[in-house]
Order: sequence, then C-alpha cells, then structure tokens
Amino acid sequence: MKKLLITVITSIAAIVCACAETPADENKSNNETASETTASVVSETEKEVTKVDYKALGKPLVALTFDDGPNTTTTVQVLDVLEEYGVRGSFFLVGDNINEQTEAVVKRAYDMGCEINNHSKTHSYMNQMTAEEISAEVTFVSDKVKEITGEGTKFFRPPYIAVNDTMYENIDMPFIAGVGCNDWDNAVSADERAEKTIEQVKDGTIILLHDSYGNFKTVQALKTIIPELQAQGYEFVTVSELFEARDIEISSDDTGLYTHLEK
Ligand SMILES: [Zn+2]
Repeated sequence: MKKLLITVITSIAAIVCACAETPADENKSNNETASETTASVVSETEKEVTKVDYKALGKPLVALTFDDGPNTTTTVQVLDVLEEYGVRGSFFLVGDNINEQTEAVVKRAYDMGCEINNHSKTHSYMNQMTAEEISAEVTFVSDKVKEITGEGTKFFRPPYIAVNDTMYENIDMPFIAGVGCNDWDNAVSADERAEKTIEQVKDGTIILLHDSYGNFKTVQALKTIIPELQAQGYEFVTVSELFEARDIEISSDDTGLYTHLEK
C-alpha cells in the first residue's frame, strides 16, 4: 500500500514538480526527471518522520483556516506568507473555484503540509437543500481534492455557517466554524483584521479568514497575526493536528461545530 502511495506521489511529482527542494543527495542522477523524483520521495519520507506530537509539545495551539479559495492571486499570496513564517494552515475550498490553474495552487498548499478541506461546491445556503443536493455539494469537492492530492477532505465548513439536521446526517465530516474578523468586508482594514483576530485567540482556537479573490487586506493582516502569535508562544497547526492534540476523534457522526478546542 505504501509502495503504491509512493508510486502515485512519484508520478504526480514527475508532472508538476516545480517546488520540491533537491537535497544534497549523493545518489542524485544526472537525469533531471529521475533526480526530481528522488527528491520528492525523500521529502515525503521526511514529512512522515518529522511528525510532531503537539500534545506532548505543551505549547498553546492555534489553527489558521482560509475559506473561499482557491485562486491564483490571494491564495498564492497567503501561501507565500505562510512559507515566509514557516507555518501551515487549512484551506476550505469552494469546488467551483477549482480549475486547471488553481489545481496547481492546491497542490502547492498540500505539498507545504497545509490541509485541504471542504466548503461545498457552490457556496450556497445548504440548510435549504435536499439530502441529495447536500451530498452532491460535498462529494464534488472531496473527489476533486482527491484527484489533486491523493486524499479526500477531512473537515467541512458550512457556507455562512448555516446548518441543519439534514446537513449533519448527510455530511460525514466534522463541521468547523472559527473566530472571524469580518474579513469578507472590504471596509475592515488590515490592522483591524489583525487586532480583532489576535484578541480572540486562546489555546485551541480555530481562526477563520478568507483567501477569496482580491482579499489582499487579509494577506496584509496575516503578516501581523502570525508573528504576534508566534511571539506569544503559539504553535500553528492544521485542524487535524488540533483534533489529534485534543484527543478528539475525526468522526463521520460528529454533530459539533468547532471554534475553540479546549484542553
Ligand atoms: Zn465562505
């Protein structure tokens, strides 16, 4: 199974590998494709080996999450900022925004160790939908993400945080909310976004931001949010890692709506 997984990763890497760092590897071949393939497998192995036990680490944890992407502008800039500060986030994708161009951005996020999650196909009020429509919304995104990354989505963010029982019955992922700063409103400045976010954060908080097209003030705000929380001792984790650190099982029967995961 693992061999198969590596084979799949290798095949994908051979096609789109533009970002895998080439390590100082004495087995490095002169053949360019072969050396990129080696680099990708090595970095994948390292990723597994360096898995951190965030519960044992004992530091306060926070999860950055981003809704409404992917796109080739804001999402790329968010990834640049995350990379600059050496942190990872979780992206909740809108299926209708996934296309040939944005797939590469999703792959980049995944390769950086970010988590790719589900925010429905059409970003509609799903509490007004039938069971079949609800299933189709989430399956579309999960299938697309699986095509890109090799794994489906683990968490769901309801559009407009509008939920009902039919949604819980037909979506087999935990629902995530989070603390926001009205960053969908262009009138809210980057400084206000940063300030409002930071003041709401405590150990185990999920931060809800938007990497929607043109939302550059949030990119700007991130450049304050991340270093400030790092200075306060916070460790940035994905939503999965936060669940794991809190011993909460990722269950298809979960009927919660998570914002703060207390210790
Ligand atoms: Zn949204």
